[in-house]
Amino acid sequence: MVLSVIDLRPITCNLCGGHVVYTSNAVIYGKEYGSGKCYLCLNCGAYTGTHKPRPHEALGLLADESMRKGKMACHAIFDKMWMGKPKARKKREDLYFWLSEKMGIPPEECHFGYFDIQQLRKAYKILLAVRDAEMRYDNNGRIYFTIEH
Ligand SMILES: [Zn+2]
Repeated sequence: MVLSVIDLRPITCNLCGGHVVYTSNAVIYGKEYGSGKCYLCLNCGAYTGTHKPRPHEALGLLADESMRKGKMACHAIFDKMWMGKPKARKKREDLYFWLSEKMGIPPEECHFGYFDIQQLRKAYKILLAVRDAEMRYDNNGRIYFTIEH
């Protein structure tokens, strides 16, 4: 069994404490996407998708509009740093490790879907600061950024 830092089968909303149901994600999108399922808070409407091969497992915390915007803003910067690059998978992993150190959290907790709104804002500021910088590896295989002047 894999231990997780978030509740993979939430029954209580992490935002409002309301009752969460496991349901078809057609209630959100109008038709089913991906796993076809979601966890939805009946009180505030926050939701999270689930893993396609494991449709009972939540992808992250239930998110409201501002959390969804925060996640998109972070991904817009973060994904450009590794997607389509050589050794993309390793770069992605190394970038998450780098970010976890900047955030002061264990690497296994470092996923945008696991972040609350405060963490999303913090991550966004960290990413914004290196957005236009050059990503490099030091001799120990750790990522750092240099800003050209
Ligand atoms: Zn809620």
